[in-house]
Amino acid sequence: MSSNSEALVVEWLASQRQSMIDLLRDVVNIDSGSYDKAGVDAVGERFQQHFVEHDIETWREPNDVYGDAVHAVVAKPGSNEKPVLLLGHRDTVFPKGEVAKRPFTIKDNKAYGPGVADMKAGVVINVFVAAALKKFDAAPHPIKVLITGDEEIASRASRPIIEREGRAARAVYNSEPGRPSGNVVTGRKGGVFMRFEVFGKAAHSGNNFAVGVSAIGELAHKIVQIHALTNMDKGITLNVGLISGGQSVNTTAPYASGEIDFRYVEPADRAVIMGAIETIIATSTVPGTTAKLHVDGEFLPLVQDAAAKAMFQTYQAAAVDSGLTTLDGEFAGGCADSGFTASMGTATLCGLGPVGGNVHTDLEWLDIDSIVPRAQTLARAILRSEVS
Ligand SMILES: [Zn+2]
Repeated sequence: MSSNSEALVVEWLASQRQSMIDLLRDVVNIDSGSYDKAGVDAVGERFQQHFVEHDIETWREPNDVYGDAVHAVVAKPGSNEKPVLLLGHRDTVFPKGEVAKRPFTIKDNKAYGPGVADMKAGVVINVFVAAALKKFDAAPHPIKVLITGDEEIASRASRPIIEREGRAARAVYNSEPGRPSGNVVTGRKGGVFMRFEVFGKAAHSGNNFAVGVSAIGELAHKIVQIHALTNMDKGITLNVGLISGGQSVNTTAPYASGEIDFRYVEPADRAVIMGAIETIIATSTVPGTTAKLHVDGEFLPLVQDAAAKAMFQTYQAAAVDSGLTTLDGEFAGGCADSGFTASMGTATLCGLGPVGGNVHTDLEWLDIDSIVPRAQTLARAILRSEVS
């Protein structure tokens, strides 16, 4: 790279502020909840239109149930160098009809709308950085862009694609929203999302109490035991956040179920706690009950290795040169796709998107003045990444 091409790239990105806001408005104004394949695919098409306009090769990897994975690449013909991967998701947690209620708006330099921060703005900077590197033929390595459509439901369809692309990459930049502090994310918890079912026996609780077996009674024991696995010092948390069960107030409960959210920091703690949960599910306190455990979804932790630390230092210096002088790395309890690529052994940084907050709520906001400097920082960091 020459410092000349860096100057051209960051100047061009500054000139694209309104174009980035316009693209953001277009994609926010399309409902794209994770289960809304048509909506998620429509957002994907809008991003593909951007790639086509910037002469960037793009294709889709189809999925029957969830949004197709959208791919794009900026590379010299025939290059077999390991690429840099720019990662992001375009699904949101919001139901169909949310856009009609609160379409994209800007007020006092903040943008609002479903998914505006998490993470449509991040995908917008990814695709504009790719366009800038293409325009000035400045990419030091091939640049791959991956835009998935099911992150908010634990990437149940995209995980193998993310792992495949992550394993093949030299480095992964994930533009989940920047922290409200302006910091990026250098570590994340892993998470396992589970359901358990308890089976008892129904009986009239007045006439036949002795022959009944209460699944709710057993569920209560299991909840207390599962919660007791929490270890705040180690960052291990267990939360049974949903329960249901029973038939009527005067029947011993034949059935009960609960949903468990398990988070951890150290990869080794996963097996220990999962083993303990399996034992709790398999062991009954109320005689005659049985139980089953189902794993519904999972994110792996983002752990910072030496390569990711060096990558962060390069990014931080790039941030200073883009006017973001106080930017630092932060640990987040929330999970994201960055954990999958880090677990492939590929250096990964997360939370590189424009700065926002109140994500997953109707108060979600995005600082629009952070769009250009975050795009410039990402471009500078890529241009300065060493050839390895
Ligand atoms: Zn997100």
